[in-house]
Amino acid sequence: VSLGERPRVLIAGGGFAGLYAALELERRLREEEAELELVAPENFMTYLPLLPEVASGRAEPRHVVVPLRRALARTRVTLGELRGLDPRRRVALIAPAGDGREHEQGYDQVVIALGSVSKLAPIPGLVEHAVGFQTLTEAIHLRNQVLACLEVAQSTRDPQARRRALTFVFVGGGYAGVEALAELEDLARDACRAYPDLSRADMRWVLVEAAERILPSLDERLGAGAAHVLRARGVELRLGCQLRSVAERRLELSDGGHLETDTLVWMTGIQPHPLAARLGLECDQQGRLRVDRCLRVPGPGAAWSAGDCAAVPDGRGGCQPPSAQHAEREGRQLAVNLARVLRGSEPQPFRYRSRGEFVTLGDGKAIAQVLGRRLDGRAAWTLRRGYYLTRMPSPDRRARLALDWLAGLPFARDTAQLGSAQHPDRPLQAAKAAS
Ligand SMILES: Cc1cc2nc3c(=O)[nH]c(=O)nc-3n(C[C@H](O)[C@H](O)[C@H](O)COP(=O)(O)OP(=O)(O)OC[C@H]3O[C@@H](n4cnc5c(N)ncnc54)[C@H](O)[C@@H]3O)c2cc1C
Repeated sequence: VSLGERPRVLIAGGGFAGLYAALELERRLREEEAELELVAPENFMTYLPLLPEVASGRAEPRHVVVPLRRALARTRVTLGELRGLDPRRRVALIAPAGDGREHEQGYDQVVIALGSVSKLAPIPGLVEHAVGFQTLTEAIHLRNQVLACLEVAQSTRDPQARRRALTFVFVGGGYAGVEALAELEDLARDACRAYPDLSRADMRWVLVEAAERILPSLDERLGAGAAHVLRARGVELRLGCQLRSVAERRLELSDGGHLETDTLVWMTGIQPHPLAARLGLECDQQGRLRVDRCLRVPGPGAAWSAGDCAAVPDGRGGCQPPSAQHAEREGRQLAVNLARVLRGSEPQPFRYRSRGEFVTLGDGKAIAQVLGRRLDGRAAWTLRRGYYLTRMPSPDRRARLALDWLAGLPFARDTAQLGSAQHPDRPLQAAKAAS
């Protein structure tokens, strides 16, 4: 393993923590001070808080991602995956996207920012029949799925198939679940006006939540406000209830009920990326990498970590929550500290307290808690959009997203169902069959 003359900093992960760490390192360190490399499986960073609007068609998928090669001026971007680490030798095992053949790569400092994955449960049939809501692919799929179900309901003559197509079940009432359901219900409510034989009253939208209330991580009054808005829109909240099994399209629930559906969305929370616990570094019981308040992983590996895969102390005996606003700031502070260490200075502790939270509930509707004040309706919705526009880390993306949102004011929502884009082989196969 050969190291260049400059210290080599390897960043694994191109999400909030990884991208902001790289941007800040570029700002803090001169080119001759360090060689920067970022490894990620995609060549873009996904702005995950905007996924619900991708699902509802209010934001174009390409406008909520930031191309890493454009955003980063002098960080070498390698498309691939971190597969392992040998902290004592300071060697990372990398599998590049092209041939996937693993190779060893030396580093002087390594940043682990792998984020999280959907938390699963041992429910029979779950993985085979449900879809999650953690990635751009899932958001695009769900939009197409909801529109495809409306098409099925309009065209089928089988009443059972129609009922199944018009039943949408979401499991998990955290903010991502609530936002996804609310945005997709809004899309379906809008879209069904274009179908002669469909109305909102024909549809059934169900949210299954194990706790006695939705949005358990937020202020109780915010959760109650969101529940009120959803119920007023006809969403069925099954609280204190769990999914027990999934067989084909039939769901068994813990309250003895069952549902038949073509659309099951599983979003009961997240777990740290499983690789974090296999890197030979110290982890907590949840599988998050232990870091000190300066975001250093203890031990010999010169490792740092931030974001959803790290247990970042909050200075009050607990850990910082897994959120975009924390991951972004942790990534920046990590870079500041890493630069200080390379220059022989002491790192500084990470300090941040959230100033607010937003939950979108569809077009023109949201709830928020900002600087201790509760807001709802259009005011909260406008503030949320303004906030995300200012936080987008690229002027190009800011402009494109603003144009999407402006176009949404006078024009009706686009309800084209592009699900066939997932099957590019079909036209040639059809041509072959026809000839
Ligand atoms: C639907 C949804 C809505 C959300 N809404 C909000 C919100 O409103 N407000 C808020 O604050 N937070 C929100 N969050 C949470 C927030 O997005 C996350 O907390 C944040 O993205 C965490 O940042 P991260 O850098 O740790 O992980 P991520 O941003 O997920 O980045 C992880 C990166 O690691 C990469 N990676 C994975 N495996 C490997 C590997 N083996 N090698 C190299 N790279 C790898 C991934 O491709 C990705 O680039 C939401 C999340 C979701 C899913």
